[in-house]
Amino acid sequence: MSLSQFRLDGKVALITGGNRGIGLAVAQIFGEAGAKSVLTARRSNPEGDALLRDAGYEFDFVSADATDPETPERIVQHTLDRFGRIDILVNNAGVAVHGDTPDFDDERLEKIISTNVVQVFRFSRAALPAMRNQGEGVILNVGSMSGMATNIPQNQVAYNGSKAAVHMMTKSLASEFAAENIRVNAVAPGYIDTDMSRGGFSNPDWDPVWRRQTPMGRYGTAEEVANCVLFLCSPAASYVTGSVLLIDGGYLTR
Ligand code: NDP
Repeated sequence: MSLSQFRLDGKVALITGGNRGIGLAVAQIFGEAGAKSVLTARRSNPEGDALLRDAGYEFDFVSADATDPETPERIVQHTLDRFGRIDILVNNAGVAVHGDTPDFDDERLEKIISTNVVQVFRFSRAALPAMRNQGEGVILNVGSMSGMATNIPQNQVAYNGSKAAVHMMTKSLASEFAAENIRVNAVAPGYIDTDMSRGGFSNPDWDPVWRRQTPMGRYGTAEEVANCVLFLCSPAASYVTGSVLLIDGGYLTR
């Protein structure tokens, strides 16, 4: 038994959506825990880069659209070329789109499914051969409380379905690769204070309802999610695979 099991010294992580929000918080805690990281998202974030650089963490940012079919193979190869291995894949990139189902057009449906589901599969598929060759690896998917229960807005059928798919892919991958020492887990955040919950997706009327319905009475922070991601990706969680860890301030205790 040692606290060093919570560290990631010498590990190499690939974090999608690593430029802001939960992904950036994961990059920060991974850096502090001793990992080297490749971060990817469509846009760069100079402030996020500066945070990581000033802290002395070793990382690369690669700009790419995760929904492009060629992106996952390319970014995994970049990670292998840059750092020689890939120990941890954090499938974090995601989008939230809501809308009444009868009016929910194919463009929005395609955006949700390609970003939240298809690229999770493709990044996992791209990273698994290297993990297999190494004889170990960890995949961590960012699902959602919305993949387990409905909440407001009620018109989130595609998003909720996409996150339920992430949870089930997590369990299926965990089962398929457990014997090869590759662990696969997910976190299911509740309301977390990021651009996603603050931004165009959100609605000021929902804010007090979300807070009221959360027993802890507040949003979670990206750092609180990242702490759980660190645990699940660290050797301390060596017997945990196929789990979906709720991080919801008690929301689903109701
Ligand atoms: P943000 O909106 O802050 O971050 C979303 C991230 O995904 C950004 O880094 C964004 O970068 C990236 N991304 C989106 N689309 C693409 C794309 N096509 N290609 C590459 N990167 C993409 O939100 P969060 O940090 O909150 O979200 C992170 C994850 O957490 C998501 O999967 C989300 O569904 C999940 N989640 C969030 C909750 C919350 O309350 N905030 C609750 C439950 C789950 P860029 O736009 O530059 O490409």
